[in-house]
Amino acid sequence: MRKKNIALLGATGSIGLASLKVFRQHPDKFRLVGVAAGRQWEKLLPIINEFKVEKVCIWDASAAAELRKHTQARVLEGMEGLLEMVSLPEVDYVLNGLVGAIGCRPTLEAISHGKHVGLANKETMVMAGELINAALRRNPSSRLIPIDSEHSAIFQCLAGRPASEVEHIELTASGGPFRERPKAAFGAIRKADALKHPTWVMGEKITIDSATLMNKGLEVIEAHYLFGVDFANIKVVIHPTSIVHSFVQFRDGSLMAQLGCPDMQLPIQYALSYPERWPLNVDRLDMAKIAKLEFFPPDIDKFPCLGLAYRAGNLGGTAPAILNAANEAVVARFLEDRAPREAGAIGFTDIPRILASVLDAAEIRQHPTLDHVIEADAWARKAALRIMDTQASDGTDVPAAPARQSTAKAAER
Ligand code: MG
Repeated sequence: MRKKNIALLGATGSIGLASLKVFRQHPDKFRLVGVAAGRQWEKLLPIINEFKVEKVCIWDASAAAELRKHTQARVLEGMEGLLEMVSLPEVDYVLNGLVGAIGCRPTLEAISHGKHVGLANKETMVMAGELINAALRRNPSSRLIPIDSEHSAIFQCLAGRPASEVEHIELTASGGPFRERPKAAFGAIRKADALKHPTWVMGEKITIDSATLMNKGLEVIEAHYLFGVDFANIKVVIHPTSIVHSFVQFRDGSLMAQLGCPDMQLPIQYALSYPERWPLNVDRLDMAKIAKLEFFPPDIDKFPCLGLAYRAGNLGGTAPAILNAANEAVVARFLEDRAPREAGAIGFTDIPRILASVLDAAEIRQHPTLDHVIEADAWARKAALRIMDTQASDGTDVPAAPARQSTAKAAER
């Protein structure tokens, strides 16, 4: 078998590092021809050396300049660099483990060049699900396989059967660190509390999203576009130990589940080996030891972000991109961990409140082009920043006329 030539985007993140572990288990199957990262060039350098990578992309221009001093590899930068990397003729397979909205265009570009894509960047499907599906129809030699653990589970359970045979899909959610905390105590939650995820070790942004259940909300939207299932037939169930990765209920009454230890190496390798299954040295479940599996309904009143995601999903068009972009802006601010009385400080319960305000003010465009999506994304970030920077420290919006006016103006675009 010829080795698969891989471009790994987000090489220094949690998906990237798990991917490297998979490559190390199968040196006969993969060749890493390109790696991309944000700005952590010191972390990228040993990867370049170990895997003898010839093409590198760094998002941050000054980090790229620094890296060039330390490697013979060709160093690209920014979005142009990412787009060039995914379209290189020697690349067969793009593994997209980027965090956030920047992962969207590289996915589209890879598909338009007929590449196979392993997608861990859920923002791609959230922002541009329709565009991605259209691109896949235009480029039948391309293939998109989900790596998000829940979507990998659904993909494995579906085993190629069409959406018409599915009654519903059910995404499992750990419930995050605040599942058992009373809603009245949510006001005191700070960054450090929200970063204590019970089952998965992930980057900071997605860990906050797990604590608000926005991560599950984005996954609901992702599932809709990946599998063509209506929002009414996508359910979420809280499963604190993250052993069942998701369910598919078929119309004949059969409920399929995929189980495994929470380790991203498995969905990453499956996306690469599909439809084959290769050996993988990860922990095995011992069901007799586990003894019981627990499931609970989600509490949308405690975690309004989940409800907001269904709302945006049902609105369709640019609404999911708007919700996603506003969420990125709000979570970035929350991660700054400003002192509660500091200007622009936001608390945990402000996250859904601000996102709801942005959705309320948004003008949704149906069947958007990529430019429309990018424009909606930029508008939503600005709208979220405006709310955060004009709110009083007690969390209510300052009714200042100029702020109101500019919000309304932005919404008109
Ligand atoms: Mg997931």
